Amino acid sequence: IIELKNISKNFEDQQVLKGIDLNIYENEFLTLLGPSGCGKTTLLRIIGGFEEPSNGQLIFDGKDISKVPPYKREVNTVFQKYALFPFLNVADNIAFGLNLKKMDKDVIEKKVSKMLELVGLKGFEKRDVTLLSGGQQQRVAIARALVNEPKVLLLDEPLGALDAKLRKDMQTELKKIQKEVGITFIFVTHDQEEALSMSDTIVVLNDGVIQQIGTPMDIYNEPQNRFVAEFIGESN
Ligand code: ATP
Repeated sequence: IIELKNISKNFEDQQVLKGIDLNIYENEFLTLLGPSGCGKTTLLRIIGGFEEPSNGQLIFDGKDISKVPPYKREVNTVFQKYALFPFLNVADNIAFGLNLKKMDKDVIEKKVSKMLELVGLKGFEKRDVTLLSGGQQQRVAIARALVNEPKVLLLDEPLGALDAKLRKDMQTELKKIQKEVGITFIFVTHDQEEALSMSDTIVVLNDGVIQQIGTPMDIYNEPQNRFVAEFIGESN
């Protein structure tokens, strides 16, 4: 569904991404894994349209979308900080984008209700989002990102702010949601265990270069170089 061809990104004299080649498939749960500062967020921002690549091509369903603005891409993003609208209730947060499009009220209500069911927040429609727990707020953020039916969802360390137990629960939940909706997830984390337990495919990045692409089994059992072996080893 997405093809990255020789994508590079420079910030002033620093080359943050160095010739990234990657194919991302429909319905895939793909994780970008690597240490802090390796370029994961920058790569995600390029796919989302918040950053332009310095070089290379970004192909979506066969078309180069490098110059297409974020809101015209069939891609949505969930950030670590949920960025909910504090002055709107749960339902209105989720419906925000649909209201902007002046969609029919009944249709909006149906879509919102479907999303609340999906993320396990039925009955929370009128709640004040500022009074929800971290996990619940993240569910609202996920519902809001999925309600306009993107083909790809980008998730930048979405569970980073949660405590360990909740984090585990949300990992299972996210995976379930992804399979249920039938959508591509591109998930960023620096947590090896999180990547190993959730992904169909893991892309290990270091210093702007892909070190290895593979299933969790491949990455764990057959690291292709010393960096991958040591980085994955750190999780034990
Ligand atoms: P983390 O896990 O800490 O978020 P990351 O792997 O996501 O790290 P990036 O956020 O992509 O890494 O950053 C990679 C490098 O690019 C860092 O050295 C960062 O300082 C630099 N960088 C990112 N955005 C900008 C920017 N807008 N201007 C200048 N430098 C930037």
